[in-house]
Amino acid sequence: MTFAAYLAGIAGRLAAAASLSPREARLEARILAAAGLGVEPVWLIAHDTDSPTPEQLARLDALFARRLAGEPVAYILGEREFYGRPFKVGPATLIPRPETEHLVEAALARGPARARVLDIGTGSGCIAVTLKLERPDWSVCALDLSAKALAVAQANGSRLGAEVEWLESDLFAALPGRVFDLIVSNPPYIPESDPHLGAGDVRYEPRTALASGPDGLDVIRAIVKQAPAHLADGGWLLLEHGYDQGEAVPDLLRAAGYGEVFMARDLAGRARVSGGNANGAWQQPAT
Ligand code: GLN
Repeated sequence: MTFAAYLAGIAGRLAAAASLSPREARLEARILAAAGLGVEPVWLIAHDTDSPTPEQLARLDALFARRLAGEPVAYILGEREFYGRPFKVGPATLIPRPETEHLVEAALARGPARARVLDIGTGSGCIAVTLKLERPDWSVCALDLSAKALAVAQANGSRLGAEVEWLESDLFAALPGRVFDLIVSNPPYIPESDPHLGAGDVRYEPRTALASGPDGLDVIRAIVKQAPAHLADGGWLLLEHGYDQGEAVPDLLRAAGYGEVFMARDLAGRARVSGGNANGAWQQPAT
């Protein structure tokens, strides 16, 4: 059997198992096969009439068995691109998503020169590392509740050459008295009973990175409440949230006294990022 025939068969099964279009399934089959064989995807096109050796075939069968069982492509490859850079990912971290690039852009648009930045629930570290690499004048601190996620984030920081302060912390617990110009977070925000949690890639991702209470807003409420004590005058809090939380999150920010509250949509037109700043009415802590 040739590579072409093998991959066509796999693509058909992938299309059915992961509900992909025939084109997406062909691409995914080629990308995974190339990674498994240690070649560039174009090699498989150039060698489409060759036949895999028995060892190659065994390697490909094992890899596609994982994918056909539902495991996310990013976990099989161990890597996912975010903001144009490759990030290591594993089952301890959420897989970086393109819509989170909107949070990065919101931060880049608002952070002042030499900003002190905090990323809450950093996961793979994709937001913190990207901000540090895009703005080397910023000092970036990133925290996560999960030591396993932090190890992945730290590895991404070293691999991509970003100097970030990594902290194991439950929200601000390890940061008494610390003040920032910009606080960003892609927190868990899916309602605990949302059927989305049982579907597709999400099934394999850490539940603590995804779900947050009955309406998905428990962690966001805690951040909105605790951040004022850690924001410099004029500093911004920027939060990613669900498509159906585009009114609730700005409402929470306004109710807590944040100023210049805004909500931004992603490329698909869905509510995605909200924020507000510390020009609001709350009492600044004495520093
Ligand atoms: N956007 C992700 C999803 O719906 C969730 C990410 C998150 O909870 N922070 O799959």
